[in-house]
Amino acid sequence: MSKFWSPFVKNLVPYVPGEQPKLAKLVKLNTNENPYGPSPKAIAAMQAEVNDSLRLYPDPNSDRLKQAVADYYGVQTAQVFVGNGSDEVLAHAFHGLFQHGQPLLFPDISYSFYPVYCRLYGIANEQVPLDEQFQIRVEDYARPNGGIIFPNPNAPTGCALGLEAIERLLKANPDTVVLVDEAYVDFGGETAISLVDKYPNLLVSQTLSKSRSLAGLRVGIAVGHPDLIEALERIKNSFNSYPLDRIAIAGAAAAFEDKAYFEQTCKRVIDSREAVVAGLEKLGFEVLPSTANFVFARHPGKDAATLAAGLREQGVIVRHFKQQRIAQFLRITIGTPEQNQALLDALSSL
Ligand SMILES: *Cc1c(COP(=O)(O)O)cnc(C)c1O
Repeated sequence: MSKFWSPFVKNLVPYVPGEQPKLAKLVKLNTNENPYGPSPKAIAAMQAEVNDSLRLYPDPNSDRLKQAVADYYGVQTAQVFVGNGSDEVLAHAFHGLFQHGQPLLFPDISYSFYPVYCRLYGIANEQVPLDEQFQIRVEDYARPNGGIIFPNPNAPTGCALGLEAIERLLKANPDTVVLVDEAYVDFGGETAISLVDKYPNLLVSQTLSKSRSLAGLRVGIAVGHPDLIEALERIKNSFNSYPLDRIAIAGAAAAFEDKAYFEQTCKRVIDSREAVVAGLEKLGFEVLPSTANFVFARHPGKDAATLAAGLREQGVIVRHFKQQRIAQFLRITIGTPEQNQALLDALSSL
């Protein structure tokens, strides 16, 4: 703490990301990165961008990327926002769409960045408990609110909410924004982007960090009614009007255009997930139904923190959360078949 800090800095509780160990050779299954590389076409597009033109500012509107996203989803470019990772997109949404008198609602078990942004932007919030099966119960959100946000599929549970339930939520809350954070939707979920023309209160965010394997590039998107997008643009242009650099715009657009590679790598992750679930269940784990690139599992006879520490000793890192309700679970990212086997081998030795 320092006397030079603005007073509110003292009260911030920053997000703690999963560890990025400097050691090579670890089987790193703790931050939901994609085990396969980015599209070769995206890499080529980024390499082609590294030239004399870097002396020029990038396109402040990232038009090329917005067009690629609009084409991919069959929407208008005015319905698309892009930012430096979906965390930045979410930050602008909290700032621009959730600062109303009533509390923001989100599940008690969900992305731990949400409470961080609430503190940063002074947004009151209520955490709505998931049911006993760790599912979102739409009826529980029927209360006064200044907005609703949840990951779909949820993180860290991996459980998805169907579009029919999302529509019920949208209809029940016509006066506030419902933000569906689809960081993991490409691994077997169903996107709510198909509903944006019908519901002006729906905003859908996605990231290129997971299914498009570009976590290091920092690109995220949001799709929704042009009025919602305009709020995000107003915030962005009051904060940093050049958020995406030239390399990111080129790489992200090419990643959206390379549909074949994207579909093939998602399928490999999904197939591996089914194998990991089977392997974990054979070892006696209870695994929540996942449509993400990770699974959330607990063992009735083994303490999760002890298991995580034991795995670490064998060079396998998974994520363990201290939050009481989920303290007996491990969140395990799906890796390559070799990494998944290393995980199962290490667990069976424990
Ligand atoms: C990973 C993740 C994000 C953020 O991804 P970026 O890397 O910032 O694009 C957002 N929401 C959830 C639920 C995530 O798991």
